[in-house]
Amino acid sequence: MQTARLAKERLDDLVRLLRERGYRVLGPRVRAGAVMLDEIDSAADLPRGVKSAQEPGSYRLVDSADGRYFDFVNGPESLKRLLFAPEETLWTVTDGEVRFNEAAAEAPPTAVIGARACDIAGMRVQDRTFLAGQYSSHTDPYYAARREKLFLVAVNCTRSAGTCFCASMGTGPRVREAFDLALTELDDCFLVEAGSAAGENVAKQLPLVNAPASDRAAADRAIEGAAKSQVRRLDSDGIYELLFNNLEHPRWDDVASRCLSCANCVMVCPTCFCHKEHDETGLDGAQSAHKRQWDACFTLGHGSVHGARLRPQIRQRYRQWLTHKVASWIPQFGVSGCVGCGRCITWCPTGIDLTEEVAAIRATPGLRG
Ligand code: SF4
Ligand code: SF4
Repeated sequence: MQTARLAKERLDDLVRLLRERGYRVLGPRVRAGAVMLDEIDSAADLPRGVKSAQEPGSYRLVDSADGRYFDFVNGPESLKRLLFAPEETLWTVTDGEVRFNEAAAEAPPTAVIGARACDIAGMRVQDRTFLAGQYSSHTDPYYAARREKLFLVAVNCTRSAGTCFCASMGTGPRVREAFDLALTELDDCFLVEAGSAAGENVAKQLPLVNAPASDRAAADRAIEGAAKSQVRRLDSDGIYELLFNNLEHPRWDDVASRCLSCANCVMVCPTCFCHKEHDETGLDGAQSAHKRQWDACFTLGHGSVHGARLRPQIRQRYRQWLTHKVASWIPQFGVSGCVGCGRCITWCPTGIDLTEEVAAIRATPGLRG
């Protein structure tokens, strides 16, 4: 399918079509002062005319004068919660009988409108962990069932936040893979591109007209403008040697003096996958539930083995997170664990910025690289 044009006032046709096809449709909505992913009934539920201002440790929504649908940049939620649930029961035991949770296989078909390039890149990183392939011998059935039933309507970013650095990670702001439909918002229309057979099928039922070359050029300029406006970048060149040859660098103490070990950065990160499992036992002793729950390398428990705490200091826990995320992830999974979404910078209560931490170590005179 060629890139086509959808009039702005027909965006609701897309929501309606997806709902008619049996999808639960999620999209950005304003909740608790932030743009979150929630169920939408129509395009009228989308936060039109809203921009997000993001800086280290700071996020706020402001009105935008131009009334666009997708003027804000990513909120705290990525696709992670939809595929890798924050908590789920894996099996239950009742009166000695074990029952595995089959409910995940019944995951409802879900369409997400508004996934950004970094969200999709984050999902592709998690695919390497949760789906069997070159980097994993095991498919997680819960993740796989939800992933299979996901229909993604991506949105190319035409604006970057102050904390974005996807351009330096090669993950955005243009969506390049794993989408069903991709939209680019212009003043009076959306440019629509299909990325899968399912996307083509939906596109065929939309009131589309061929996009003139001037629209395509305007879209390219807007996406390139978003990339150029990014003020942060992460230099990944030789980053494994840089960090692992400098595990005793004084910068780790410096960052530890600012880090609260709150794990906000992990919770908002689209690629972090650490979790713990525990049993919740009924008071009657007749039943228990075995649960999987998100965890983080910032918790003391996560680094505990047989009661011994492997990383008692915050310095060790921050270093563990950063060295894995941007360095040892590469030999483990073939890509960086960071897609440059900037969420960990925006949502860190003390404004710690991983790009600055890496740059500070790199800038040390006489460093072992
Ligand atoms: S880096 Fe920031 S968000 Fe992450 S644990 Fe430390 S204080 Fe919390
Ligand atoms: S480490 Fe930070 S910038 Fe990188 S993907 Fe995770 S949340 Fe986004």
